[in-house]
Amino acid sequence: MNEIESSLTAVEEQMLDLVADHATQSETLSWERKHRNLLKFIDQLEPIEDELLRLVSEKQSLLACIDSTRNTMVENCIHPKDLLVLHDGHVVCKFCDRKFVVKEEKNV
Ligand SMILES: [Zn+2]
Repeated sequence: MNEIESSLTAVEEQMLDLVADHATQSETLSWERKHRNLLKFIDQLEPIEDELLRLVSEKQSLLACIDSTRNTMVENCIHPKDLLVLHDGHVVCKFCDRKFVVKEEKNV
């Protein structure tokens, strides 16, 4: 019996008894079996949640690597031809998003 239960007065004890379902022994056994199963399922969930946390952490680490690499590449972009597009008479690099004003060669 824990401290809260042991500190109940007789009247308080009666109040709890009035609310408690007075189940048969087989209903009580059945409920207790379900309760044990519930605790077992919760135990089985724990390693899965640990694994999820590990995976989320691994994912965040990879996302940080992607961000860092991409930022370095944007900073030192070589503007590869396959990533260049013409837009409103300018050349735009789709990777770094820089816009270039290029004069057309007239003597083609
Ligand atoms: Zn670029």
